[in-house]
This record gives sequence, C-alpha cells and structure tokens, in this order.
Amino acid sequence: MARALPTLNSPHVLRRPVRTPSGVYVCGDHRDTPSIQGALFSGRRAAEAVLTDQGLATTMRRRVVS
Ligand SMILES: Cc1cc2nc3c(=O)[nH]c(=O)nc-3n(C[C@H](O)[C@H](O)[C@H](O)COP(=O)(O)OP(=O)(O)OC[C@H]3O[C@@H](n4cnc5c(N)ncnc54)[C@H](O)[C@@H]3O)c2cc1C
Repeated sequence: MARALPTLNSPHVLRRPVRTPSGVYVCGDHRDTPSIQGALFSGRRAAEAVLTDQGLATTMRRRVVS
C-alpha cells in the first residue's frame, strides 16, 4: 500500500501550517500525525485559522467549549 499514509519520520514535524502562502487553507493527516486523530485535529486548526483570519476566533472557541 504505497502512499497509503504520510511518512512519519524522526524527527517529525507534528504541526505543519494549515495556511499556505497562497492563502489556501489545508487540513488532513499530512498536517499533523498520520492518523484519524491527526486528521481531525488539523481540521480544527484549519477552521480556527479561517475564523481567526475573519476576526471570529473568539466566537468559535466559545461554541467549542460550551
Ligand atoms: C489500512 C489503514 C488503516 C488505518 N488504521 C488507522 C487506525 O486504526 N487508527 C487511526 O487513527 N488511523 C488509521 N489509519 C490512518 C487514517 O485512516 C488516516 O490518517 C486518515 O483517514 C486521514 O484522513 P484525511 O482526511 O487526512 O485523509 P483521507 O481519509 O485519505 O481523505 C482524503 C480524501 O480526499 C480524497 N481526494 C484525494 N485527492 C483528491 C482530489 N484531487 N480531489 C478530490 N478529492 C481527493 C480522497 O479520495 C479521500 O476521500 C489507517 C490508514 C490505513 C490506510
């Protein structure tokens, strides 16, 4: 199963940027750890990045906590 998962070399960068220089937001296991947890967490980070850039980050954090 070549390319089934992103490689997990040591040392591994655990938090790759979810904002690209071109302004595109990306998420997936290739941004965090190659796992479902990594994919989900990167999705949250990407959503938070979008909301932060839109000036709505505080609103989202309140919703997540409540
Ligand atoms: C055999 C196997 C077993 C695993 N077991 C576990 C486990 O037990 N626990 C665990 O935590 N993780 C496990 N993983 C890892 C986990 O499945 C992945 O890390 C996780 O699914 C990654 O989610 P993702 O959303 O980043 O990418 P993906 O789930 O790969 O989703 C990417 C999606 O993008 C689509 N896509 C790709 N290119 C394009 C394109 N050009 N245009 C449109 N769509 C496109 C693909 O079809 C796919 O639907 C396993 C992986 C494999 C292969």
